[in-house]
Amino acid sequence: MQPKHRHLALVLILLAATALALAFTVDVSLVDQPGVRMMLPAQLGEWRGRELRYCHGEHEKREFFLDELPGDFTRCPTCGAPLHHMSKEEYDALPKDTEFIKSQYRHQADDQRPTFVTIVLTGRDRESIHRPERCLSGQGFSIASTQVLDVPIEGRKPLRVMVFNTIRPIMTPQGPGRIDGYYAYWFVGQHRETPYHLERMFWLAWDRVINSVAHRWAYISVAGQRDPEGKYLEEIREIVSRLHSEIVL
Ligand SMILES: [Zn+2]
Repeated sequence: MQPKHRHLALVLILLAATALALAFTVDVSLVDQPGVRMMLPAQLGEWRGRELRYCHGEHEKREFFLDELPGDFTRCPTCGAPLHHMSKEEYDALPKDTEFIKSQYRHQADDQRPTFVTIVLTGRDRESIHRPERCLSGQGFSIASTQVLDVPIEGRKPLRVMVFNTIRPIMTPQGPGRIDGYYAYWFVGQHRETPYHLERMFWLAWDRVINSVAHRWAYISVAGQRDPEGKYLEEIREIVSRLHSEIVL
């Protein structure tokens, strides 16, 4: 089949499965055991990670590293409001039982460009994960190109992750400029992993219909900056393979 037809076939199967799923919704049991550990390691090879917390109050500095908070990780040191694992924008867009964790990583030899790793875990309604394209364009990024990258994982076949090459226009003192970045991600269910949003939707429907269960899916992303030589692809491979061995169950 040509890729276009394969895509169409997948959509049709998905529609059929969704229709069936709706008919059988009452019999579906929610499986709460996720396919990932909800933690981010302090060290990923040469990268050192610092977990983030967010204040949703109205003042200048609203992002804090866990290690710069004075003992109490639950309250904002500036205004005393509760701290969250996600920004106000993310909090408003997601169901309240969504679990979320985010860290900034910096390479110990080249620490000029921070890399961000995020895990989003769906809650009861299983709908917390939107199409990544939608979230990125909402934040002012445009997608220049996409590719699926093979990441070697010891003792099994490579993991496939989606990589978006992003562009974000910015204003600099010299005039308009841009940041060339990347946004890499994949989805993890129970014994299932995929770089495709549509395939995740398909498995969600399939498991509802065939197995009468709804698993909590995790959405793992790595975002950083692109260099002209393309070394960032090696960075993605390195970070994702180490992360995978630490968090995927
Ligand atoms: Zn605050």
